Amino acid sequence: MSASPESAVRVAPPAPGPVVRRRLRVRGVVQGVGFRPHVYALATGLGLAGHVANGSSGVSVEVEGPREAVEHFGAQLAERPPPLARVVSVEQGELEPLGERGFTIRPSHEEEGRTLAPADTAVCERCLAEMWDPDDRRHRHPFITCTHCGPRFTLIEDLPYDRSRTTMTGFPLCERCAAEYRDPADRRFHAQPVACHSCGPRLRFTPAGFGARRHVDLDALRAARGMLARGAILAVKGLGGYHLACDAGNPEAVEELRRRKGRGDKPLAVMVDSLDTAARVARLGPYERELLSGPRRPVVLARPGPEAGRLLADRVCAGSPRVGVMLPYTPLHHLLTEPDGGPTVLVMTSGNRSGEPLVTDDTQAVERLADLVDGWLWHDRPIRVPCDDSVVRVRPDGTEALVRRSRGYVPEPLPLPFPAPPLLAVGGDLKNTLCLASGDQAWLSAHVGDLGELATQQGFERARAHLGRLTGVAPERIAHDAHPGYHSTRLARRLGRALVPVQHHHAHLASCMAEHGLDGSRPVLGVAFDGTGYGTDGSVWGGEVLLADYRGFQRLARLAPVPLPGGDAAVRLPYRMALAHLHAAGLPWEEWLPCVRQAEPQELRVLRRQLSGGVGCVPTSSAGRLFDAASALAGVCPRVSYEAQAAVEWEALALRAWDETSPAPSAYPLPLAAAPSARRPASWNLRPLWRAVVDDLRDGVPPALVAARFHRSVAYAVYAGCRTLATRHRVRQVALSGGVFANSLLEETVTDLLRADGLEVLRHQRVPANDGGLALGQAVVAAHHRGPL
Ligand code: ZN
Ligand code: ZN
Ligand code: FE
Repeated sequence: MSASPESAVRVAPPAPGPVVRRRLRVRGVVQGVGFRPHVYALATGLGLAGHVANGSSGVSVEVEGPREAVEHFGAQLAERPPPLARVVSVEQGELEPLGERGFTIRPSHEEEGRTLAPADTAVCERCLAEMWDPDDRRHRHPFITCTHCGPRFTLIEDLPYDRSRTTMTGFPLCERCAAEYRDPADRRFHAQPVACHSCGPRLRFTPAGFGARRHVDLDALRAARGMLARGAILAVKGLGGYHLACDAGNPEAVEELRRRKGRGDKPLAVMVDSLDTAARVARLGPYERELLSGPRRPVVLARPGPEAGRLLADRVCAGSPRVGVMLPYTPLHHLLTEPDGGPTVLVMTSGNRSGEPLVTDDTQAVERLADLVDGWLWHDRPIRVPCDDSVVRVRPDGTEALVRRSRGYVPEPLPLPFPAPPLLAVGGDLKNTLCLASGDQAWLSAHVGDLGELATQQGFERARAHLGRLTGVAPERIAHDAHPGYHSTRLARRLGRALVPVQHHHAHLASCMAEHGLDGSRPVLGVAFDGTGYGTDGSVWGGEVLLADYRGFQRLARLAPVPLPGGDAAVRLPYRMALAHLHAAGLPWEEWLPCVRQAEPQELRVLRRQLSGGVGCVPTSSAGRLFDAASALAGVCPRVSYEAQAAVEWEALALRAWDETSPAPSAYPLPLAAAPSARRPASWNLRPLWRAVVDDLRDGVPPALVAARFHRSVAYAVYAGCRTLATRHRVRQVALSGGVFANSLLEETVTDLLRADGLEVLRHQRVPANDGGLALGQAVVAAHHRGPL
């Protein structure tokens, strides 16, 4: 990604011929990516006169010279843009030649329309080489950057992208930096965040409890590394927020970080110094390697590698089947993990207490992280908008399954296969992101978080305002989840424009359809396997097969509903979910069952009465709760400390047996019973499944094998059900969405079975299958809404 503008341009000899002048308007991600120097190099290389300027709607260029050279210029501009640019369109128009000489880069000017801001990008190889070079004037500079790398989204205040509209505005350039900034031949020409030791942001280290004693610059780094080596927990200011960091190989430090953050058993991401170390920590294929070392630098989820047990304390990824690993993406991270004796594998988890939004502000970092850290490694470059690390799993076919789409991806637009009116979709309550759409593009915000907290709701407002400024979308309608009690629904109502409620699982599937470019003219079969979502009948859905297009859906099948006793309590206590499932299946609560042993006799009596009478119980067809129940029934995870923990540990167990069983483990029966009437959905009958699971456990079959068989059963049931329904409704496309598809064993098995049968499987690749992708689905459904608003 470090190709210089000069080397990216192939220069052809200027051809003689009549002189023409042409205007070109380039739209797309074309600001903050070295586009103007690229244009400059291209034009001067071809001997063309004219100028280039940034405007709010993109980059505009006028060139004058021999016709052939001008045409060659136009073609090169569209086909060979600089590495970080994304050209959406190039509009060309003829002008009268002016006899101009020379080519200039003009200052920015305002005009109608908006251009697209680039995402934050990992520091490039050339900048890194300079940073490690003792003779370079930016030797060990923690903020080294150029036109092809560095912070963008998180420091842009407004467009057009110029230093004065970024958080770098408070750092006047020194003479040498200014000279580079002004020189079109320099690789820092108009690199807005450019800085050096003498004019740039300052790194600081402040140990807790010694507010007055501050270390500055290289000293700060040394102090921070020293503390990490001694097992301290530090707040480290990054690109889109603060991290909490500690030595990942130090069990006490990891345990202490969990305790202070209130993290429970949720896995922690680690940052390692190099791809070599990453390959020791995680099992990496070629796709994982590419993603890890590419410009986006997400956390990559992979199976533990050969030395994971030695390099990581046990409690880093607890009962999860995968480790989350990333490489350094800022110069500071490279310095922080430098292999010079200090720890090179660091836990790097978002800087907040669990449930609260990411801390970006320095004052807040002192207040809110005071009880969590032993010191702060920070700097004085402000962060305009929070942006968490993105989290990605790579599928065997090389496609990305995004778990969280944030840094490195946001605010890259998602193309829409149809024109949308200007609109806002507010997303769901958990893993919230919001979406703005207009014309043929949609923009998803960075991860906002769980809207239960007031601070997160304020974060939502900030994200909305910032994305609104960057995209210029003025929404005419607002899409929200159909759940009347959602915080997001209330936020939508407060904005008070035309509201479009969208059913939760319809939104999940529409999101998947949209990212695959479907125009919605033909319905697909959609499998929404999810935790929780408000159904049109007021019950909790989550194990659904819908025949869906963007306008609406028909619910064709679902998991047989079971009562959810006490709502949230059943989610936190999966053993209660297991008891509810057994009860609904008419199976006895035998005393030896692990889920029965979890409950007090009194609790069992109350629960039985509750389930029989249906008091305080909402029926649910949730697939998430089905996996919870299975996990707890087998005694794997009766209580959870984070969302989906029971299902995650159940999958981890299944993978162990799956790898050792050949051929694949056999399935339990899980038949799809016919619908009682044409207007009602068919139901998967869960009784034979639970009876077989209980029998296996009674016979002493290892829980890992039970888990593998369970996964196989659900995958096979989904496949068989889809095959029947696809034939009946004459569709060939099956979309898979919902948080349960974070389970790769389930997702891969379902996909393989469906594809072997000739069905086309649509899986998420650019937005998450979980609620983080919900807003895009809401947006496309709302765009198709007809009738009164
Ligand atoms: Zn660079
Ligand atoms: Zn400078
Ligand atoms: Fe959902």
